[in-house]
Amino acid sequence: MLKELIDQFYLENQKNKEQTRFYITDAGKCPRAVFFKFKNAPKEPTDPRIMRIFEHGENIHRNIFNILYRLRMGVVTEVPIPSQEIISGRADAILCVNNENYVLDIKSMNSMIFRNLSTPKEENVYQIQLYLHFFNIKKGILLYIDKDQQNMKEFFVDYDETVCKSLLDKFYALKDQVEKGEVPARLADYPRNWQCKYCAFKDTCKAPHGDSYEHTTAYSAVFCFTG
Ligand code: SF4
Repeated sequence: MLKELIDQFYLENQKNKEQTRFYITDAGKCPRAVFFKFKNAPKEPTDPRIMRIFEHGENIHRNIFNILYRLRMGVVTEVPIPSQEIISGRADAILCVNNENYVLDIKSMNSMIFRNLSTPKEENVYQIQLYLHFFNIKKGILLYIDKDQQNMKEFFVDYDETVCKSLLDKFYALKDQVEKGEVPARLADYPRNWQCKYCAFKDTCKAPHGDSYEHTTAYSAVFCFTG
């Protein structure tokens, strides 16, 4: 009884916010899925269990912020990137350690994924590169936390201008496709890519209209790339 009521609560409080800008967390994601998000295309509801996992992750972030403040290092948390035309995002924190500024991005995961992590995940590196770019900071830290065992791993990331340029070029190309209603191709290794497994748009993606997505009122995207 209670389980059903709690699940129902999560399902009823899903945020289906209309997307009008890219988010830094879209970096490295399937462009076709991001396109569908802009078009407000039909998608599977998020499993309440997954929503609780996200919430747990947010609580872990808050605990780390608390420790950073208590360490009395220079720190600001949840810092929005400077306003510009195409992309929004909020870094977990900016730290000053030994007179050097760092962007901090915290990621939490289960023990099995954590155990196998010997290098930072590619999409996480893309995201922190964009934070470094927009904050004009040269060094970043990806802090991974094992949700089950509370172990941590950290990786240092140096700003790479070439990577950022390539990521931003891809965002501009996708913006063009969204505005023209041109559906991006499926991932090259569809449907084996791990993103396809967890994609909320997999039915839309494989539907016959998935390749010629109509720019109807119901699915229209509203852009506001005005900075
Ligand atoms: S199913 Fe795969 S290729 Fe299709 S939109 Fe989702 S992630 Fe992209």
